[in-house]
Amino acid sequence: MGITFVTPGKFQKQIEFLHKQKYKFVTLTELIQNYYNDPSAIAITFDDGYKNIFKFGFPILQKYNIPATVFVISSSISNKNNWDANLGWIQYDHLSPSEISKLIKAGWEIGSHSVNHKSLIGMKLDQIYYELNESKTILENQFKTSVNYFASPFGRTNYQVLEMAKKVGYKGICGFFPFKYIKQKPPREIIPRLAVYYTDSLPSIARKLSHEKSLKIEILKQNVINFCANATLVVDTLR
Ligand SMILES: [Zn+2]
Repeated sequence: MGITFVTPGKFQKQIEFLHKQKYKFVTLTELIQNYYNDPSAIAITFDDGYKNIFKFGFPILQKYNIPATVFVISSSISNKNNWDANLGWIQYDHLSPSEISKLIKAGWEIGSHSVNHKSLIGMKLDQIYYELNESKTILENQFKTSVNYFASPFGRTNYQVLEMAKKVGYKGICGFFPFKYIKQKPPREIIPRLAVYYTDSLPSIARKLSHEKSLKIEILKQNVINFCANATLVVDTLR
């Protein structure tokens, strides 16, 4: 967990800041389909599908008419998550089906974040298939929308996962490609994201998105920034 969160106040400032930079905000599918390599377009993503995205993030983004993409864990819609609970962390509520529907209605995209939120690396092929295919099917059937992208749990992915993802119909995977493959350019279907951390300042976010003074490496061509929204609840409980 650590620093992978933002508070609502900070999030508001970050979105306001990005909004002022005149970015075109789009969903992940739109970004890849229509704005590939366009530095003026940006996709905002959230992992895990916590309720606080709806409670805090959604109203802020609505103010600026900004859509986002949220990666939902299919087994945990409306449930308390159990992987953090295992670590003794506070339990967070997940988005309910009606909240997800409202987000979709507002122009948001949903992607899959697997069935069980376990690392797919080292899993047997049939389990990988299950995590990829079952989550896609459940989400598509329940929300009558197409689920085009998969965010790997813990960002962990490899060729095997990518091949299986393509086989079950995903257009790409958000995740970190293993460094051992870095000499070859990672496949186009692996979508790198710029993470926004608690410690990020507005200038550091601007630097992450900057194409000139490149903190970006060659593979980071798209502007996909990922907010982890856990902390909004931390703040809530500390208040
Ligand atoms: Zn996750």
